[in-house]
Amino acid sequence: MNRWEKKQLPQKVTYEDVGYDQYRSVNVYACICPSCGLHIIEFNDDDVENSKSDEPKEMFHDCLIHHDYRGLNNFCNRCGQRLDWD
Ligand SMILES: [Zn+2]
Repeated sequence: MNRWEKKQLPQKVTYEDVGYDQYRSVNVYACICPSCGLHIIEFNDDDVENSKSDEPKEMFHDCLIHHDYRGLNNFCNRCGQRLDWD
């Protein structure tokens, strides 16, 4: 399988807690490209205040911001990796 073919295979997006934003007093989370590490979307506690989960992935899917992004980001903007949002 060459590089191009590999990029066409959907890879699962990584969801991570990336740390505390002391200026806004919220914790920040990111959806990360599994291929190049680009933070495709960052969101924070304010965005997911209605979620009951502690898992960044579940928080993301519990809130509404992902509906705006999933259609737009089937591929990574930087490396072209096809993304699987689960
Ligand atoms: Zn990428």
